[in-house]
This record gives sequence, structure tokens and C-alpha cells, in this order.
Amino acid sequence: MDFDRSHSGEAGRPAADALLQTIIDFLPSGVTLFDNELRMVACNRQFRELLDFPEALFENGLPSMQQLAEFNVARGEYGPGDPAEQVAGVIERARRMQAHVFERRRPDGRMLEVRGNPLPGGGFVTIYTDITERKRAEEDARRAASYLDAVVSALPQGITVIDEALEVRLWNPAFVKVQNLPEDFMRPGIAFADVIRFNAQRGEYGAVDVEDKVNRMVELAQRFEPHRLERARGDGGVMEVEGRVVSDGGRPIGFVTTYTDITERVHNERTIRRVRDLMGDAVNFSPTSIWETDPRGRYTFVQGMEKILGTPDAELLGQPRWARLCGAQCRSECRKETLANCQMRRAIAAHEAIERWTLCTRGRDDKEVWLSCTARPVFDEHGAFAGYRGVDVDISELTRAQRELEQIALHDTLTGLANRRKFRSRFELELAHRMRSGSSFALLLVDIDFFKQINDRWGHLVGDECLKGVANLLSSTLRAVDLVARFGGEEFLVLLSDTGLDEAFVVAEKLRAAVAAAVPASIDGQALHLTVSIGVTASSAVAADTPDFDHMLEQADRAVYAAKHAGRNRVCGPAAALR
Ligand code: GH3
Ligand code: MG
Ligand code: MG
Repeated sequence: MDFDRSHSGEAGRPAADALLQTIIDFLPSGVTLFDNELRMVACNRQFRELLDFPEALFENGLPSMQQLAEFNVARGEYGPGDPAEQVAGVIERARRMQAHVFERRRPDGRMLEVRGNPLPGGGFVTIYTDITERKRAEEDARRAASYLDAVVSALPQGITVIDEALEVRLWNPAFVKVQNLPEDFMRPGIAFADVIRFNAQRGEYGAVDVEDKVNRMVELAQRFEPHRLERARGDGGVMEVEGRVVSDGGRPIGFVTTYTDITERVHNERTIRRVRDLMGDAVNFSPTSIWETDPRGRYTFVQGMEKILGTPDAELLGQPRWARLCGAQCRSECRKETLANCQMRRAIAAHEAIERWTLCTRGRDDKEVWLSCTARPVFDEHGAFAGYRGVDVDISELTRAQRELEQIALHDTLTGLANRRKFRSRFELELAHRMRSGSSFALLLVDIDFFKQINDRWGHLVGDECLKGVANLLSSTLRAVDLVARFGGEEFLVLLSDTGLDEAFVVAEKLRAAVAAAVPASIDGQALHLTVSIGVTASSAVAADTPDFDHMLEQADRAVYAAKHAGRNRVCGPAAALR
């Protein structure tokens, strides 16, 4: 114990001094006591250590204020200045001693808190506390608070901190904004209940009993349970409120609540849902399928294919689309002769867009399914090919109807044979072929003999049966490459590819004989026999360089006329001069 008592001269005081010294020695701070003559009455070791006073200063008893001041000035404790003035200043302030607290930075950088109080009997007590650490902690806390404040202020979300007494301790500008609160509404320590009340009064929670709402919310908050909810705002906006409990040693001491304006997110989600539903309806209620593939052509998404092909969409996922649709069973026009020749495959390999390509594949019960496929290549953000995205439209119905129409437009309804139009276009093709290859083709005009009599005798229906019978006979007697058409009434036209006139005569004769030998119809078990007269001509037998249809037909017609004249059931050709 460091006990200095050089100025305590009174008898009976040592015990009191000892007690005082004991007390001040146990204090964590430095303590000095001066009497009203500015003589030090007592001090403790902490004081000497805190202020780095050397032992020498205390060797001859406790130093006076004057001595301490001089020592301090000399060692620069009060900074630069006139030493005498500095000492006088210290003494002057000590004489006018009033209660004071100030902080002093020592030359070594440490901070002292100096707390002085006049004593009732004159003199004063001064307490020196090293507050360097406290100051540093305060500074750190202030910095942390500034950082926190900057972060909290910059948060796009509103945030509040509510303490265990349900008072709002902290909030940020975003909170005021997202809650649309008046500028000056928030103040430190405002009750959570007041914020709720304000919101309830302005209808934020709809038509509610204000106090009832406040009470319920307060009750809920007092449970200190984490919560998360979405709140529809009066203005149509949506806010997400999420409260996290702050605990101290397991004891809840408040809430940190965030308020996020999710109006746009909710709106976007609704839009996406609506668009997805619309798209789903469009796909489900129409003969379409939408799909995506990876770069290797495997389905990564497909919707609506089940109703078209019968294979569940989920089963198609991961399967190679093109192999499924353009495989061996592909019957599309694009496939041409071989798969390698498939134009669509080439387009896909080149990552080209596909615009209404027609695919024919097999669906339920091996039925032909025609798809119109439109797709575009998809590239990722680095420009790498990522697959295809497209739409298939089931055009099977349309294709069938189109084929039927074509059949109707190009065929005779009674006999099913080609009609004049089809015959005419085949004739033009044959003509072009002949121009290229120099080959010949032949034309036969077949006219049933005395057909009117059949009608007259047996009626039109029997006549029709006979027409069908002759048509079948002609078709089955001819080669597949030849074309037989019903030219009108009881007349038929036959086009023989790569056939010269002599050969045409042979074919015509064969036809004539077949008809004459056949029974195209029978009435009540009685066989009907028919004969035909056939006029023959060939492109090689036509004088003109380019034999046209009318020209050849006229020639064949003349030949038929000749055959009729000659007694029917026979074949005639061009006049000898033309042969
Ligand atoms: P010819 O030996 O001189 O050719 O005598 P034809 O009776 O065969 O010739 P004509 O031109 O005098 O008569 C053709 C008949 O063919 C007239 C018509 O009633 C009949 N005819 C034409 N188209 C049809 C048809 O679609 N059905 C039926 N049943 N008869 C038809
Ligand atoms: Mg006729
Ligand atoms: Mg006739």
C-alpha cells in the first residue's frame, strides 16, 4: 500500500487516513485529494502510475498542485505553450475548483477521464480513469454503428428493430417508403402499437376494428415467434413481412423485421402463370405440340404430343426427336429416297430454321400422322448451339382432306380412273420426258361399241357397271407406268410411256381382246359382252416436231372412227402416210 501522509498532521487522523488510503487504493481509478491550499492530502498508486509520476516526485512527501503542474508542464503534458502561463493556468483552475469532467489525451496517446469535485470542507477530490480502452471500444462501436447505419439505409428492403418492450429502436428510410409513412411519423422509441394503429386507421389491413387489430398484433408480437407473411396493400401493392427474433442468451430481446415490396414479383409471377395457362390451353385445345430439344436433338420439353401421337409427353423426354419422327418410318416428302438425302436432316445439321416442314410419321394404331413443323435453333449466351425450339401442328386431317380433294379433282367418280385433267398433266410430263430422252410414247382412245344399246336395254345402272368393268379391265391389263383415264362417256384414253407405234398396236390389241373375252357385267346370271374400238397413235407418228395433245387426240379419234367404220371391235392407227 502506498500511503503518503506528510500533510496530515492532526492527532487521531492516522486511523481515518489509513481507512481512506485503503479505500482509494482499492479503487480502479487514480484518486487525488487536495486541500484548499492546493496541497495534496492523499493519492493512490493508480494515480501515480496512470500519470507516470516518478517516485522522486513523492520522495519528500506528497507534491503540491504547484509541483505537479510544474512537473507536467515540463514534460509537455499540456502540449506546447509558455510554461509559466501553463502552470498559472492549472493553479488558477484549481483555485476556482468546480465540479468538472473532462477527457485528456496524454502525450503517449492514452485517454484519461478527469473528474473533479470540490469537497464540502474545502479542497477537492479528483478521479483519473484510463478510458483509452473504453474510448477505443466506443469508437469501434460508433464505427460499427456507422457501417450498420450505412448498410441499413442502403437496403432496398424496409427494416425495423423492435425491442422486447415492443418499441421501435431502429428503422431505415426504405421502411418509411415501403410503408408509405409520413416523413416525420417515425421517431426513436415509437411504440410498435402506434405504427400498427396508424396503419389500421388508414385502412392498411382493410376494414378492421382498429384497437382490436392493435391488440391482436401486439399479442402476436409478444410471443416472439419468427413469422413471414404477405400483405396486400391498400394501393394494390403486395408487401412481404418477415420477422426474425433477436435473442440474448436464449431470451428474446426483440425483432428484426424486413418489409419487401414484392408487388412487381407477385405481378410477374401472376403474369407468368397466366401466360403459361394460356399457352397450356392453346396447346391442349388445338392440334399442336410445343417442344424443345438439347443440341443432340433429345426432347428436353414437350407438351401436347400425346394427343397427336399417343405417346405420353413424359415418355418422350430424353428421347431423340428426329429419330422418332424422321426415322425409318418417315414417309415425308422431304425424306426423298434415303435418310441421308433428307432435306430437313441437313437443315438441322446446319442449325437452320425450319419453316413449316411437313413430316409424316406413325401414331396410334400405326396410323399415318402428318405434322407441320416450324422450329428455330436456340443458342446459349455464348452463342453455342443449344438445340431447337419449335411447334408441331397436326395436319393429318387437313392432309387427308387435301388428298381427297385431289382425288376428286383429278379422278372420275364412277370408275376411279384419272380424269381428263390428270391425264392432261401426265401427257405434258410425258411430252417433256420425250423431249429430253427422244423416246416415244403412245396414245390409245378406247370407245365402247354400241354402248347406247346397253343403256337402252338394261338401263343406266347396268351401263355404269359395264363402264366400271371395262375401266378395271383396262387398268389391270396395262403396266403400272401406263395411265388410263376416263375421257368422257364411254371413252377411255390410255397413255403408254416409252412406247412406239408398233408396240402400241400390240398393247391395243391386247386390250381389245381382253374386253371382248371378259364379262364386265351380268344380268340375272346372263353374261353381258362388250367390245371396244381402239384408235392408236404415237408421238413418233405425229408429223409435228412437238406433238401436242389436241393433235394426237384428233389422230386417235380419227383412228377410232375408222375402226367403227370397219366394223368395230378392232384397232386402227394413223393413216399409212403418217406411219
Ligand atoms: P358406237 O359403237 O358408235 O360408239 O355407239 P355408241 O352407242 O357406243 O355411241 P354413242 O356415242 O351413240 O352413245 C354413247 C352412249 O354412252 C350415250 C350415253 O347414253 C352413254 N353414256 C355416256 N356416259 C355414260 C355414263 O356415265 N353412264 C351410262 N350408263 N351411260 C353413259
Ligand atoms: Mg363414243
Ligand atoms: Mg361407243
